Amino acid sequence: MPIPASQPLPPSADRAAARAGESGPPHSAKAESPGTVTDRLVEANRHYATDFTDPGMDARPVLKVAVVSCMDARIDLHAALGLELGDCHTIRNAGGVVTDDIIRSLTISQRALGTRSVVLIHHTGCGLLSLTEDFRHELEAEVGQRPTWAVEAFKDLDDDVRQSMQRVRTSPFLPHRDDVRGFVFDVTTGLLREIDPRP
Ligand SMILES: [Zn+2]
Repeated sequence: MPIPASQPLPPSADRAAARAGESGPPHSAKAESPGTVTDRLVEANRHYATDFTDPGMDARPVLKVAVVSCMDARIDLHAALGLELGDCHTIRNAGGVVTDDIIRSLTISQRALGTRSVVLIHHTGCGLLSLTEDFRHELEAEVGQRPTWAVEAFKDLDDDVRQSMQRVRTSPFLPHRDDVRGFVFDVTTGLLREIDPRP
């Protein structure tokens, strides 16, 4: 059975159609221009660079915090958390799950770039809620090769945030494991709900 190209995630077709009519900000990649979407991004970057001045920042995040979040397109981490350029590391993947590669990034973030706090963010309506490990089996059946990675699908958002907190707190590579907090972001209200590490 082929892997579905996309899971049944909002926004609805109506919302998508409404958004397609938006003109967006001046540098928006949605602006009408020929070429692929990447061509539009490159064009938007040319405009961005025109107004850009070197902020002269250090690579070390000002707030000494790393935010691990799902890659979901509806989450604007900087806006949602009141963050500005240079404030934090943002590390994102499907689900915001703490995988080995997230630990790799957090280890570099803490040991080489001075972060001390970790914020973990899952969200309502996550695509990982509708997947199972069958995804791997179907993938293997289709392409003839078993992925080396786990899907890391989950059925319970709160439990998976706790699992992620636990993985950070028990990682021997991370020197700073005291300030680790986990949240669920509601994509309909924009509000974070904190998860108690003890169920
Ligand atoms: Zn998600």
